[in-house]
Amino acid sequence: MANAARKLDLIDVAPFSPADAAAMEARYAEVGTRDMLDDLLTGELKGRVAAVSSFGAESAVLLHLIAQIDRDIPVIFLNTQKIFGETLQYRDALSETLGFTDLRVFRPDPRLLAAKDATGLRWNYDPDGCCDLRKVEPLRRALAPFDAWVSGRKGFQAGTRDALPRFEEDEGRLKLNPLADWDKAALDAYFAEHHLPRHPLEAEGYASIGCAPCTSKVLPGEDPRAGRWRGWEKVECGIHVPEKPGEEPVF
Ligand code: SF4
Repeated sequence: MANAARKLDLIDVAPFSPADAAAMEARYAEVGTRDMLDDLLTGELKGRVAAVSSFGAESAVLLHLIAQIDRDIPVIFLNTQKIFGETLQYRDALSETLGFTDLRVFRPDPRLLAAKDATGLRWNYDPDGCCDLRKVEPLRRALAPFDAWVSGRKGFQAGTRDALPRFEEDEGRLKLNPLADWDKAALDAYFAEHHLPRHPLEAEGYASIGCAPCTSKVLPGEDPRAGRWRGWEKVECGIHVPEKPGEEPVF
């Protein structure tokens, strides 16, 4: 009986709480990004963590940092089936260059698509529902084996990401935002220092790159995510929960 109770504890208790995330934030407050990742990915989180990447405009920085530490860390890519062909090519080339051994591609459940987006046009009238089908549900499946995940979000990308913490709790998992306090200049410098390849659409004016129907070019002076879901109030996809009370969920 005692053994059965212990088994239940191990399975049912979420591995990380909001208090754990806050404690991590304090623990690593004075630690640089590379050292923090080194410590966590080779220590407490080894074997328990995956990186999630959109292989978008700035994804190469985080992926390069991780690859320097452990190329066997699973890298999850959500193929929403609305992705630019250029992103798929960039994903394959960058993964190869960085030497990742465990790229995992997750797609929407075809039964859900048939039931809820048979025309493939849901993005046009219900982008939140489309993101739920094509991003949120596949990510939930992808993260099932893990206690923690690494995201490439940056605080400077849009007003909604101001003061982004480096650690968050998300459905009982620890979510790391190692680039939370990196600005555009720091990212550009990292690209240059490490000779990282740019996403081919960046040169065409796409500052933040997601699904093709919901991504447009950014005009001078606009924030980098202004080209996402242009014309809608939506600013993220539901993978990332609101940063501030009352804010809409977003990706
Ligand atoms: S970004 Fe657009 S196309 Fe992609 S899942 Fe969301 S609503 Fe659908």
